[in-house]
Amino acid sequence: MNNKRTTTDLSARHFSRYGEFLVSFELSKYGWNVYNPVYDEYIDLIIHKHVCEDCGKNWNLTPVLVCKKCGKDFSKTQKNKIIAKKICANCKYEMVGNKRKCEKCGSKNLINRPTCDICGGEIEMIDHSCKCGSKNYVTKFRTIQVKSSRIEYKNGKSKNTYAVDMKPRDLIKDKYHFYIWCLIDDDDKPHFLVMSVNDFKRVMGDSLKGISFFKDQDRQHFSARDFGKWKEFLNEFDKLE
Ligand SMILES: [Zn+2]
Ligand SMILES: [Zn+2]
Ligand SMILES: [Zn+2]
Repeated sequence: MNNKRTTTDLSARHFSRYGEFLVSFELSKYGWNVYNPVYDEYIDLIIHKHVCEDCGKNWNLTPVLVCKKCGKDFSKTQKNKIIAKKICANCKYEMVGNKRKCEKCGSKNLINRPTCDICGGEIEMIDHSCKCGSKNYVTKFRTIQVKSSRIEYKNGKSKNTYAVDMKPRDLIKDKYHFYIWCLIDDDDKPHFLVMSVNDFKRVMGDSLKGISFFKDQDRQHFSARDFGKWKEFLNEFDKLE
């Protein structure tokens, strides 16, 4: 007996959530942080990222700990290598470790000096700057509506098509709003179509004015092999940038 279960065993409700999760993880590959709205108002995900203004690389908002002298980066794995040096403000005597007063003159006025284990230079906390040299970043926010589809079957026979329901209320007029269609093939493998609202309108053309669309009865059926007229949007995650 074959106990293997696939996406087809999920209820429609769970499948729609499943699609949102798959899209979320896919988006995180492109450096997006993903959030769920508290209420479901046609927006399924809010995504957000910081990138370098000049080269577009992902930006780290947390400051870095580096040696002023040799440039060694202590931020990630090297924190335990930082030498806890204390310098007496009175006689300038240098000590290492948890000292409360100067070993030489007895002064309690000690200055902390996090010190590099390689060159003895002072470690400072500086704002992140990009490898390209830029000190400027931009914050991006996008809203996403996810629609998911499995392969359509009729009388137990694959139609080799996907079907996506689109409605007038989905046409949010905002250039930062996007649709991601998550299409699961018969091998349980996801395919993603990424498009803006305007992309959708362009491809729909006149059928956007059709009665069935107005009546919420429109259903886009398209080939599961080549995605039909929607294929130009396959993996177009760059559109979100
Ligand atoms: Zn850069
Ligand atoms: Zn150093
Ligand atoms: Zn001293």
